[in-house]
Amino acid sequence: MSASPSALPPGSTIGILGGGQLGRMLASAAAQLGYRTHILAPDAESVAAQTASSFTRADYHSRIVLDEMADQVDVVTYEFENIAIGPVEYLAGKVPVRPGPTSLSIAQDRAREKAFVAGIGGRTAPWAAVSTLAELQAAIAEIGAPAILKTLRLGYDGKGQVRIHDAADAEQAWADIGERPAILEGFVNFSHEFSIITVRGIDGGLASYPPPWNEHKDGILARSTLPAPAEIAVHWAEAATLAARVAEALGHVGVLTLEFFATPEGPVFNEMAPRVHNSGHWTIEGAECSQFENHVRAICGLPLGSTALTGTRVEMENLIGDEANRWPALVAEPGVHLHLYGKANIRPGRKMGHVTRVTR
Ligand code: AMP
Repeated sequence: MSASPSALPPGSTIGILGGGQLGRMLASAAAQLGYRTHILAPDAESVAAQTASSFTRADYHSRIVLDEMADQVDVVTYEFENIAIGPVEYLAGKVPVRPGPTSLSIAQDRAREKAFVAGIGGRTAPWAAVSTLAELQAAIAEIGAPAILKTLRLGYDGKGQVRIHDAADAEQAWADIGERPAILEGFVNFSHEFSIITVRGIDGGLASYPPPWNEHKDGILARSTLPAPAEIAVHWAEAATLAARVAEALGHVGVLTLEFFATPEGPVFNEMAPRVHNSGHWTIEGAECSQFENHVRAICGLPLGSTALTGTRVEMENLIGDEANRWPALVAEPGVHLHLYGKANIRPGRKMGHVTRVTR
């Protein structure tokens, strides 16, 4: 595969909506290939701006700012999915936005994403959309307990979720999620969690990484390990086929991540992200071409890079909150790849960095 006729040549500018660590690592990968990056984010502290070529600190909803961005960049992407769809659609009328607004709008809504994936043959936990306490009570009666109540939108890292142990928990759970539109999901008895990171080019070409085993702590990813154990490996083909089908059905361009539970019945789809993902950070040193570089390659119309492992074993460990204070010992560890995100303040639960160890 060679670069598409509409490929953006190095020297072009990639606009990135969002200013966090994913944007930071995307900007680094883009710079390696000779692209410039322009970050748009409202945050005072943008760790993406530290590695990007330029930064506009502004609200996403300002037409003046969006017009200016569209003039300055050759393609727009986003590094988080909780951005309002309006500005993304507005930009898409002026400049290519990859992945397109459809990927974003479906991934933003847990009910739409589950229905979409089930509609093309994916297996999900039993679920029901609820928008009142009475609907929640009816859903618990139907789905049973234990179950998990999740806000329809704006949830991440286990936020916006409440565990329901029995029907008597309904009222409290409804109050805890702020009486907002939600879905009730049956509790999945899984042995392991894993993800499929797929990348699709503008020519429809697909590549996908071997699945990491993802271990969470307090709802936040703690560790990704490859190769995955047998309990995950048996589901690899089915999950990767589903991810490819989802990417195709969305007309997705760029990286797309699907998260799964491994169960004896098969892989159960949990959620998707229309972007690079924390469970793919190991690819920077653990794969021949990282998820960040492959995202840049895809959205710029370049051929996709190899997703093969660079070693026999790869482990990525997240540095959450004050775990970042371990950096002096980690940086002294032979062969370790330490990544710190440049965040000024440590807060509990905040992703501060990660380390990757590759066994050759
Ligand atoms: P999510 O934000 O949907 O990724 O959920 C965060 C974490 O909660 C997941 O990584 C799982 O560990 C757990 N979880 C979410 N949904 C379920 C479920 N239906 N059954 C069991 N555990 C779940």
